[in-house]
Amino acid sequence: MGDYIIKAISENGQARAYVAVTTDMVNEAARRHNMSPVAIVAAGRLFTAGAMMGTMMKNDRDILTIRIKGNGPIGQMMCTADPNGHVKGFVGDPQVMLPLKDGRIDVAGALGIGVLSVTKDLGLKEPYIGDTILVTSEIGDDLTYYFATSEQTPSAVGLGVYMNKDNTADAAGGFIVQMMPEATDETTGILEANVQSITSVSDLLHEGETADGLLKRIFNGLEYKVLETIDVSYSCDCSRTKVINALLSLGPDEIKSLIDEGKPVETRCQFCGEKYEFSLDDLDRMYKGLKEKNGQ
Ligand SMILES: [Zn+2]
Repeated sequence: MGDYIIKAISENGQARAYVAVTTDMVNEAARRHNMSPVAIVAAGRLFTAGAMMGTMMKNDRDILTIRIKGNGPIGQMMCTADPNGHVKGFVGDPQVMLPLKDGRIDVAGALGIGVLSVTKDLGLKEPYIGDTILVTSEIGDDLTYYFATSEQTPSAVGLGVYMNKDNTADAAGGFIVQMMPEATDETTGILEANVQSITSVSDLLHEGETADGLLKRIFNGLEYKVLETIDVSYSCDCSRTKVINALLSLGPDEIKSLIDEGKPVETRCQFCGEKYEFSLDDLDRMYKGLKEKNGQ
């Protein structure tokens, strides 16, 4: 069936919800980055949240970026997403290993203490940036805190990745529920109780729960309507042309020094792992092209 996000709103307009199943996307990210189990769970939670938050933006060219800078062994984590369910990202040390904590994969230990920042490039002069501290370093709670403090939107965020014994994700997904300013205490109370009854997203998905089923649990006792269903995929928009442009932007002197080193240049996209190679001839052509352009 593939991965998807459902956007829905309560019939009374007081709350909206985003529900995602992202198992294939998380496994694709894990495969491309050769991730350890703790990296898969941490990145899986972050990328699932990124996918849902991406769909909160309106225009096709809008880009959402979430960065987590903690002092834990996984290093910096990053995720970018667009409104159409395209997600990519990376973690500093994808092979990070940590012992289980209380029988569970120790995401908080991998992240450590630090800061979460969200950048939204909405095509305006200045991108929106919101910074918050990590409150539990489990990612879901940290984003709940981010929404409350940076966006002044009371929200509940649940994220989960259930691991197989063979280091792949058996199931991944999550939800974000947000209260509108006009929400009554009654609506808020119903949703809070429903969200609290969802003790583990990863267990539910592992047991076969669907995104539609999660949505029913969230809105239990309230009428709601589905606004949109969006496919989710791990997707990188890197290309040889983009890498060439990045090399050209170094300027002729820098390219000349690469040529003088006498070795072909090999670079890897940090998001998807795609390898790009440039021979000395390629570099020479770039160098001459730049010289000519600058001479005109
Ligand atoms: Zn790429």
